[in-house]
Amino acid sequence: SGNCHPGENPASAGETIFPSLPPLHQGHPDVHLRNGIMNSTRSSEDHEPDSEKAFFVADLSQVYHQHMRWKANLPEIQPYYAVKCNPDPYVIRLLAALGTGFDCASLNEISQILDVGGIDPSRIIFANPCKAVSFIRNAASKGVHTMTFDNADELYKVKRANPNAKLVIRILTDDSKSLCAFGIKFGAPLHVVPSLLAKAKELGLDVVGVSFHVGSGCYDPSVYTDAIMRSRAVFDMAREAGYNFTLLDVGGGFEDALFEKAAFYLTEAINLYFPDRDHMRIIAEPGRFYVSKAFKLAGHIIARRAPLPDPSKSEEQVAKVEEDPDQPKVMYYINDGVYGAFNCILFDHQVIHPYVLSMNGSFHVSASEAKHVCSVWGPTCDSIDCVSPKTVLPAGLQVGDWLGFDNMGAYTVCAASQFNGFDLSNVIYTSGGIGSNEVHKVLASFAAEGNGL
Ligand code: PLP
Repeated sequence: SGNCHPGENPASAGETIFPSLPPLHQGHPDVHLRNGIMNSTRSSEDHEPDSEKAFFVADLSQVYHQHMRWKANLPEIQPYYAVKCNPDPYVIRLLAALGTGFDCASLNEISQILDVGGIDPSRIIFANPCKAVSFIRNAASKGVHTMTFDNADELYKVKRANPNAKLVIRILTDDSKSLCAFGIKFGAPLHVVPSLLAKAKELGLDVVGVSFHVGSGCYDPSVYTDAIMRSRAVFDMAREAGYNFTLLDVGGGFEDALFEKAAFYLTEAINLYFPDRDHMRIIAEPGRFYVSKAFKLAGHIIARRAPLPDPSKSEEQVAKVEEDPDQPKVMYYINDGVYGAFNCILFDHQVIHPYVLSMNGSFHVSASEAKHVCSVWGPTCDSIDCVSPKTVLPAGLQVGDWLGFDNMGAYTVCAASQFNGFDLSNVIYTSGGIGSNEVHKVLASFAAEGNGL
């Protein structure tokens, strides 16, 4: 309703500003993890299913912090948050209020962003090079005209469905230094670019710039240098084809721990290859960078058992395995798994490191507690549902104790299924520990402008 002003009653800002969204808490996320556990531990004795459900805690101040980090290190590059990474409504509203753009992969993502209110369609890039014609047409009817392409068929489709599109050619770059490579699916090789641009010209289409993606979870950010060099070559090819490119889209791939390094390589390369860029706009499509650290997950130990002997092994071999201190001594079953939040193990190549949140009703787990090798499993009846095949945890863990998982914000909630009938884990929101309540202020001012209601 837009009647909450900056600084006013921030504790209830979640309810006041966005009535359809869950409440936003203040304080550090760990406190909320703990509160959640306390409630859960208490009421699990009442046999209420909710009391033992796994849950996320989202620290929105962490998203805010990442945005400030982005602005400090890449002031010239406007981030278009990759919605696919985590389309959480609060994250979207916060980023909208902070003025980012959005990279959408589908019509539903476009609708989600525009439904927030107050976001001009020009702040969206439809960054999927292979789109259904109906998606191109519907995006156009919503005012979304900037989109990527990397093949000639896409140009014919765009000609039919949105001849006024502002096209961005996605090129192939070195993605061999990333957790998730995209080069086998997307990106025009440089030698194909001149013919694609000629085809676009022949069809009377407007191509405005170039984009690339070095792959998600890039662990060697020096690859940005080569990608910018290739982009420069494409700007020159465009001039030959009769276009004057004005947009450079450097994609995603930014890893939290390597972000400053990536920013350094990018800035150096842009200065080197694009020294005269007064009439050029540079954007990026970061996903993981913004949300990975902002979400934690708490999972409840719902069952425990001794490891099963391998039926193909002799008794002697089994005994040997049992004696090996490196082999898991216990299997713990928790209530979220690879069909849920931990789909990131399968799709995003993540390795999961659980830690103890509470043990025997206590949050204080002594560091001297005896430990053993164990494995952690999800709740479904499928044996692929393994969260951690081998990890080290305190030996005294039991059913009813809670495990914590950090860095659960990227490519987790968004791809979770309800296989075997298990609910998706809910999110508890907090504005976290930085400043007094910067996040509340940003959201409140966004609402005061009449957006998102
Ligand atoms: N842009 C596009 C086109 C993508 O496909 C992806 C990820 O799949 C992203 C951006 C976001 O990548 P990241 O989360 O690595 O920043």
